[in-house]
Order: sequence, then C-alpha cells, then structure tokens
Amino acid sequence: MNSAEPARQGSLRERNLALVARQVIDAAEPLSRADLAAMTGMTRATVSTLVDQLVAAGILTELAPVARSGPGRPAVPLAPAARTIVGLGLEVNVDYLGVRLIDLTGAVVDEIVLAENLRGSPATATLARLGQLTRDIITRAESRDMRVAGAHLALPGLVDTGSGVLRIAPNLGWSGIEPLPLLGLPDGLPTAVGNEAKLAALAQLWGCPAARRTSRTFLYVSGDVGVGAAIVIDGELFGGGHGWSGELGHVTVDPSGPACRCGANGCLERYAGKEVLVDGVGLDIDVPGDVLADRLGAEDDAARAAVDTAGTALGQAMANAVNLLDIDRVLLGGVYTGLVPRLRPAIIAQLESRVLAAPWAPVWIDPAPVADHAALTGGAVTVLRAVVDNPMPWTARQARTVPV
Ligand SMILES: [Zn+2]
Repeated sequence: MNSAEPARQGSLRERNLALVARQVIDAAEPLSRADLAAMTGMTRATVSTLVDQLVAAGILTELAPVARSGPGRPAVPLAPAARTIVGLGLEVNVDYLGVRLIDLTGAVVDEIVLAENLRGSPATATLARLGQLTRDIITRAESRDMRVAGAHLALPGLVDTGSGVLRIAPNLGWSGIEPLPLLGLPDGLPTAVGNEAKLAALAQLWGCPAARRTSRTFLYVSGDVGVGAAIVIDGELFGGGHGWSGELGHVTVDPSGPACRCGANGCLERYAGKEVLVDGVGLDIDVPGDVLADRLGAEDDAARAAVDTAGTALGQAMANAVNLLDIDRVLLGGVYTGLVPRLRPAIIAQLESRVLAAPWAPVWIDPAPVADHAALTGGAVTVLRAVVDNPMPWTARQARTVPV
C-alpha cells in the first residue's frame, strides 16, 4: 500500500490492529493496554477496542491482573494466545522429512520428523507422503479446536517463490517441479514454498523472542550436505531478484578445486559441506549432526584438519559477503551449530585478514539460537507472521469459532 494515500477507515483499522498485535507479540514482557497506548500514540479507548477484537479472534490473551503500586485498577498483561491459531512448517531435506505445528506463543504443538536418506528419491511420492503426514497433523489440531492458518514448505534448492516452482535441488536430485500441488493439502489452506536456509534464518528472527530483539541484521550460514545462507537486514530477509540470494555454498574458494554438483569447481560446499566433514573423520553421511559434532570436536589430527579446512573455507567465503554487505554478525546453523568454538578461530583469522573494515568492525560468530530443524520452525512462524501482519480476517471469524 502506498502510505501517502489517504487511509480509508477500514484500512486504518487494519493497520492499527496489526500494530497492536505486533507490539504485544514482539514485546520482551507482557504489555498492558496503557503500555500500548503510550507506545502507539493511540487513545486508551481505541487501544482497548483493538485489543478486545484481537483477544476475541484468538490472537492475544489476557493474563492474570497485576496489582499496581499506585492508584487505579490492576493492569491486565497481554500475551500471544496459546493453541488457538497455528502455523505449519514442512520440509524435505536430504536426510529427513518433517512437519512442525507452532502456535502464536512460539510453542511446538505437534511434530513428525522422519530421518531417512532422500537423495534421489522420487519427488512425487516423497511429497505425497509428506502431505499425508501434514493432513494427519491438521486433523489432530482441528479436533483440538485449533485453526490452521497455512503451511510453508522448505526445500534445499532454488525455489521461484513467485511461481512456486523448484528450479533445482541438487542434493535431492530434483528439478523443474511444482511441489505444492503434489502435497495434496486441503483446498483453501494457504500454502507457500521457499528455500530452507532462508526459512531457517527467519526462525532465528521470529522463532526466538530473545534473538528477535537483538539480531535484526545478520548472515545465517547453515551446514548440511549443502551450505545454505540467508541475508537478513534490519529484520527483513534480502531475497534478491528471484529469491535466490544466499547461495554461499557455491561461492568459489579455489577455482582449481574439486568439481561441485553445480558444475563449477572449488565451491565452498566442497570444503565445508557435510560430505567432506564426514569423509575427513571416517563417518557415514547419514550420521546425526550431534554425533558428527562430537567426533569433530575430538582432539586428534583428523578432526582438527577437517574443522580447520572447513573453517578456513567458510571464513574466505564469509569475508566476501562481509566486504560486500557490511554485516557484523554471523549465525551458524545445521551441523555447524555445535562446532562454533572449533570453527571460530579459523573463520576469524580469514575475516581479520580479508575484510577491509575488520579493525573497526569485528564480526561476531555465534551458534544459531534456533538449531533443531530450524527450517520447520521458520516455515511455521512465517505463516503466523502473516496472521499478525493482517489480523483483520481473523477478527471477522471470531463469532463462529471462539466460545463466548
Ligand atoms: Zn557449486
């Protein structure tokens, strides 16, 4: 919407509803109606009307009143509502497929994650199976009076977010498919598909209240078979022209290096991807991330060499990103999460020698706060964020679904 346009009464109410919902959901501590009036500049009466609508819609809830030290009625703290409106995150990755259901408080309400090797699996059958798991979770949620706001599917590849086409997922061996219709989800359920690293980055922003308030600009780098990344600037994902930004795994580390699945040579993935890490310490590719992290954390030459190679290559690729983008925080996810203390020295050494601004702007390298299947959380919280950004349709449904 063009903000210079005169606001219709309806659109003003829509925006104010969203403003109040966002303030409560993003707040560090529960807010009262008086707090909201002070923060938004709206009158206490206007805030009260909007809050009442959001409570009736099942977006906010009132907590037990807190006695004030001064005169006046006790303040009623407001918080996101639990187990009312819920979002679904779905994912197919090379070694698992899963569904996660999350409510507006950020709690995981239901989840199914199946560990299996899906490299080269048939897309149609795999997505149909994921769709069945999802329908089972929807049925369970609806039987407990929860309303499912939508589903967001994460895939490890280039997704054209406009058309919903997966162009290529090299490590699954999938290309040129439209995944959403293959899920067979109920008609009318809003669905979307996106890249798993970008959704995992959004999990760090919206799936973790503490991080949401401190890390609004960061580079998220996730290690799995591929190395995915996402750029988040001032709380917004930078997708690029097609939503395809962040392919850090295919940044060149050595033009004469080993061949990569993408067709080029010496990509970061060939030095810091999971295949190289497990090879370095003699493990199988299907090893769980925590077992791999334990092995790579061991004090022996093989573990040290594998981590140093990965850390140096990551640092080289990150230095290019930091020189271009002036980002001073990197969150490491996937198999890197548990390896941050081991990876950090090699990464920092590269950043210090390659980033022009390094003496004046040190780069913080931290484990991602949401580490466990973060793309599932990212998909679900993206669905819920759309509810919070546009609560009006939910207030219209209150009479039918919310007991009086
Ligand atoms: Zn490559």
